[in-house]
Amino acid sequence: MKFADLHLHTQFSDGTFTPEELAEHGARLGFAALALTDHDSVEGCARMAAACAAADIEFIPGAELTAEYEHMELHILGYFLDTQNQKLLTEIAKFQAVRQNRIREMVVLINEQGVPLEADSVFALANCKSPGRPHVARAMVKAGLVSNLDEAFERFLKKNRPAWVPKAKVSALEGINLIHQAGGLAVMAHPGLNRTDEIIPALADAGLDGIECFHTKHSTATSGRYLEIADKFNLLVTGGSDCHGFSKGKPLIGGIKLPYEHVEKLKQAVAARHSSLVIRH
Ligand code: AMP
Ligand code: ZN
Ligand code: FE
Ligand code: FE
Repeated sequence: MKFADLHLHTQFSDGTFTPEELAEHGARLGFAALALTDHDSVEGCARMAAACAAADIEFIPGAELTAEYEHMELHILGYFLDTQNQKLLTEIAKFQAVRQNRIREMVVLINEQGVPLEADSVFALANCKSPGRPHVARAMVKAGLVSNLDEAFERFLKKNRPAWVPKAKVSALEGINLIHQAGGLAVMAHPGLNRTDEIIPALADAGLDGIECFHTKHSTATSGRYLEIADKFNLLVTGGSDCHGFSKGKPLIGGIKLPYEHVEKLKQAVAARHSSLVIRH
């Protein structure tokens, strides 16, 4: 049986694997298709496409956007994105600039706690345009300012701790439109983690294409609930491990094996979208 993992992160956001390492793991585990979904970035897609091609794995270019709807945070996955799309790249560049400013703000707040972390050490460690809290935590461990990542989050970075800074979010409807105009499909990520069930009907109305029913943090019952919701609202079904490499303990790739038939349905939906666009023009 063929299977896929449609939720993966690399060093181009807060994962620890390079695209090549990720493709190597995918090949070792027998995946037929992989999607890269770095936070607010499509930068890793070119290398991942080449690495997957070399390993005879089908590659789907994607990204994970942080969004909000009525003050609720949700993550929206974009699949089959045109990674050269100008508007997508312009908007992503804005999110990335905001992420970089947020790192500086967090470092100032950490300094105010009497802890001498330097912003440049975080940027050097992150070495990507989409830095986040995990990079701050890693830089603190590296500088010997905390003994492990958990301590960094518990003492400074978690919500309601002294260095917590909210993350900029795109409105969910804008996020969906941004993905669509870049030729992609918009999918609600890990709904079981965000508790956003009540907004699924409105987002489905607004053009949401699918929901991530299978995720390493969804129980069997949770996945079952989202399969029913997907069926009810005529949404596509996706799934992925949300592997960040070694940044949260053991790599999660292999934890979700999405049956390939769901990839087929995604591809049919993209093809139908493109042909209807051609007819309309
Ligand atoms: P950000 O996108 O910058 O807000 O960072 C969110 C990332 O930090 C997510 O990938 C979380 O899984 C990770 N994270 C949140 N809490 C912790 C924690 N206690 N230990 C390690 N990573 C965490
Ligand atoms: Zn992440
Ligand atoms: Fe997420
Ligand atoms: Fe993710």
